[in-house]
Amino acid sequence: AQSNSPALALFCIDLDGFRRFNNLNGHHAGDKLVTALASRLQTLAPGLISRLGNDEFVMLMECAPDGDIHNSATLLCYQILHALTEPYRYKDKEFILPCSIGVALAPLHSGETDTLIHQATQARLKAKEKSSCSYAIFDQQHLADKENQLSIEAELMSAIRREEFQLYYQPRVNIATGKIIGAEALIRWQHPDKGLIQPNAFIPTAERTGLIVPIGYWVIRQAGIDMQRLQDAQLSVRHLSVNLSFRQFQDNYLCQTIQRLIEKGNIDTRILELELTESALFNNELHVLQGIGELHKLGINFSLDDFGTGYSSFSLLQKLPISSLKIDRSFISNITENTDNQAIVKALINLAHSLNKEIIAEGVETQAEQNFLAALGCTQVQGYLYSPPVPFSEFIAMLESAHHVKTGCAENQ
Ligand code: C2E
Ligand code: CA
Ligand code: CA
Repeated sequence: AQSNSPALALFCIDLDGFRRFNNLNGHHAGDKLVTALASRLQTLAPGLISRLGNDEFVMLMECAPDGDIHNSATLLCYQILHALTEPYRYKDKEFILPCSIGVALAPLHSGETDTLIHQATQARLKAKEKSSCSYAIFDQQHLADKENQLSIEAELMSAIRREEFQLYYQPRVNIATGKIIGAEALIRWQHPDKGLIQPNAFIPTAERTGLIVPIGYWVIRQAGIDMQRLQDAQLSVRHLSVNLSFRQFQDNYLCQTIQRLIEKGNIDTRILELELTESALFNNELHVLQGIGELHKLGINFSLDDFGTGYSSFSLLQKLPISSLKIDRSFISNITENTDNQAIVKALINLAHSLNKEIIAEGVETQAEQNFLAALGCTQVQGYLYSPPVPFSEFIAMLESAHHVKTGCAENQ
């Protein structure tokens, strides 16, 4: 499109269930459906439609001279969705096929037809990810996010080799005594150019690519080193937990490798705790259960992370060597006002008591929240009220300045 020509919108339209429809009803029915679809589109934008593939259509819309291309394109998306999700009739039967639409704008996104088709296809895939019967307009930011994700993926490899990770520690506190009884190790990536990167920005990529496996081993090794340093400084804690993602259970050598790390690092397995999420337990049940059982034989304890957000089977909780449950932050953040959350947290605490498990409330930010939790029978908290996650050196200082009980009295904490 030249600069003096009107703005254009290119739509890429795809039927979600077309292949299935074809398989069930035959190709003749499929052809009929495509013809019906094409004529519906034709009434919306006469003459500017072409078929890209099986069930994929491309449509062009020219913007009126005084119009806003973004608004006009959005409106047409709604019209297309409305027209295409009307039932189709074939041999006295009605079919509804969901569709997704992606849009690219010229000259805003590009002036090249191929590029526009590519961009509209990208947008369509994004729409489809969201839900069926939806549309998306191409978004440069989305592409930037994707590229950023790709660069994270590439850089994670070298980050592992160069050991660019750090463990921060967030104290776990006994409400009644106010003492630190343990800590959770939380990973950070000290990127040479981008600075400190939070786990939510790279753990999902690490899980998807499997790089969480070597990263997870580094975390356990480092937590072991830090545990040793605490003991050398005579500052012992009862629990030091690390997060274990469901993906790590797909590694056949998980138990063996952890056992080796424990032996080599002389890690006290009574203190080491592995945090699992409910989704990890139910993803690949038998395999995971066996792994947990084997690791428990080494003396390791488990806690259930983000408790309340997933599907918890009562009998499974009873069977597994899980010593504590961590109530998810989402139930805590508005507990003083939200009566639903109050009821949920109360039920979770009672469940923990009846299963004889320790209970920890995560994400406690105010004294009012802590008082409320204590009244419900919660005994341990972790959250910004006491401290955010801090580098190991600060964690040590915290233990020292709290005149923390020295080694030997750890049992009394
Ligand atoms: P998580 O295991 O649920 O960890 C708790 C998260 O809540 C931490 O975020 C912590 O900083 C944050 N948090 C704690 N107290 C408060 C509070 O009072 N208010 C608020 N707003 N937030 C609080 P972080 O460190 O960013 O970690 C995010 C997630 O990344 C973790 O969630 C965990 O799922 C994952 N993660 C962190 N380190 C590791 C790791 O070594 N391995 C694996 N697999 N996942 C990790
Ligand atoms: Ca955790
Ligand atoms: Ca959590």
